[in-house]
Amino acid sequence: MNIDLRGVFSGKLQEIPIDEKYDFSDLEIGGIKPICSPVSVLGSVFTRAEVVTLEAVAEFNYKAPCDRCCTPTEKTFKIPINHIIVNSLTGEDESDFIVSENMELNLEDLTRSDIILGLPFLFLCKEDCKGICPKCGKNLNSEECICKPEVDERWAKLSEFYE
Ligand SMILES: [Zn+2]
Ligand SMILES: [Zn+2]
Repeated sequence: MNIDLRGVFSGKLQEIPIDEKYDFSDLEIGGIKPICSPVSVLGSVFTRAEVVTLEAVAEFNYKAPCDRCCTPTEKTFKIPINHIIVNSLTGEDESDFIVSENMELNLEDLTRSDIILGLPFLFLCKEDCKGICPKCGKNLNSEECICKPEVDERWAKLSEFYE
């Protein structure tokens, strides 16, 4: 359901609170459906110096294999959904603004795209995940291996150069 913004655009309302829940359990990211809880969006749309601003946070649980060691991992993400909302674009350099059609905001679509943009590039079980040895396949977080790290030939040449 769209959020009616007429109140803030007309100046009758200072603030519209936002407390929504969305089901993105069917959203595919990287070939899996990792969002494993309802997505709650808390915040508000308010006017400040006649600028209509959306400030909210989307919170949800995310379950996927670690990008380095493949261990199934579940994390809670909080992704900010902050935008300036305008009625129509007047200037040319306003691509950062959200244009509200008919003074309504489709918060569900906006939340979905902000989540996709806001997710980390690498999803790791922990910040310093050591990953899997490319030679013996051991999970280096829990096991040690005796394989030597592969040296990239370009780097080997470079280090010779500096000797
Ligand atoms: Zn990991
Ligand atoms: Zn190894």
